[in-house]
Amino acid sequence: MKLHEYEAKKIFKDAGIPVPDGKVVFSSSEAKKFAESCGKSLVAKAQVKVGGRGKAGGIKFPENPEETGKVTSELLRMKIKGEAVEAVLLEERVDINKELYLGFVVDRGSKNIVCIVSSMGGVDIEEVAKSHPDKVSRIYVDPRIGLMDFQLRNLFLKIGLESDIMRQAISIAKKLYNVFVSFDSELCEINPLVVTGDRKLIAADAVLNIDDNALFRHLEFEKVDDSPEYRARKAGLSYVELDGDIGIIGNGAGLVMATLDLVHFSGGEPANFCDVGGGARADRISLALNLILEKKGIKAILINIFGGITRCDEVAKGLIDAFEQLQLDLNKIPIVVRLAGTNREEGLKILSKLNLITVDTMEEAAKKVVIEARR
Ligand code: GDP
Ligand code: MN
Repeated sequence: MKLHEYEAKKIFKDAGIPVPDGKVVFSSSEAKKFAESCGKSLVAKAQVKVGGRGKAGGIKFPENPEETGKVTSELLRMKIKGEAVEAVLLEERVDINKELYLGFVVDRGSKNIVCIVSSMGGVDIEEVAKSHPDKVSRIYVDPRIGLMDFQLRNLFLKIGLESDIMRQAISIAKKLYNVFVSFDSELCEINPLVVTGDRKLIAADAVLNIDDNALFRHLEFEKVDDSPEYRARKAGLSYVELDGDIGIIGNGAGLVMATLDLVHFSGGEPANFCDVGGGARADRISLALNLILEKKGIKAILINIFGGITRCDEVAKGLIDAFEQLQLDLNKIPIVVRLAGTNREEGLKILSKLNLITVDTMEEAAKKVVIEARR
């Protein structure tokens, strides 16, 4: 998960890394008011989670409060690399003497964290690495040992930092490393790390990407809403909405993808799908059915279960419970079920109580559900 620059800068600031003073605004009047009250020269920065904003026109240098309001409303109407701008960060303009690069990234190959620095910041670091490889230096940090001062000193010497800047750079790099580790980051960078006219280092830009697999440890960044996707995720299911009229439930991503393809191949269009994953408890199945049925215009449902570790008889019991809870009218919305694998026979026996359409193969299931949807 990528954070916005203003979110990352708040984290950097809390960690003791110098960042420019500023405020995130969402309207041009708010921008003008801030510019009036602060009375300093500002830079206005579109908040989008893509690189190269500067080049794409996402960074403006307004000269007065009037202009600050104007450029803010311009930025808020922009799309940068396909992403709509919903907020603008106004910051006190930094007096730039030199731009450096400092970043941490996970290096999967060496199973280490790598710290990358460059004396040519402000531009795309991949470009610098290609065109001026001698201007980029890196060290590998063993996460079990941590980052050592001597490593940083060697690193910054290689890019020619003078001692007063070096001291600040080491302090900032150590703080950034702590942010990187404590936020389970995959990428954390300051580009440019600015040397100001009075020889102070300050983070003019901020990138912080959090490993999605660790998001459960950083619930403060969770975008809470009442969308079916969110409610599914909270319950450990995956739900995705599509355009057709056939609801699909299956266990396992591969099986569900194959089911979607088969339904499409048979002339139908999936409306949505829910992957219930492993485990077949009634509450999961009934939540899946609920999510599928919330969408308007569902004409038929296909439930495709492959019993492996998950046993078909458990799934069948789950279905029975779910139907009891939901009181579905199967004449209005027919449900085609295909069970295969462990305890299939037992499962089918349990399901015979319900007025479901059971079939043996996926192909049949797909054909049948398309016919039912067209009825
Ligand atoms: P990016 O294009 O998305 O990486 O956005 P940055 O925040 O890195 O800004 C791009 C460039 O704009 C920087 O490398 C600077 O050259 C310039 N810039 C950004 N903020 C300031 C500022 O406060 N003062 C000055 N003079 N230039 C700035
Ligand atoms: Mn940048």
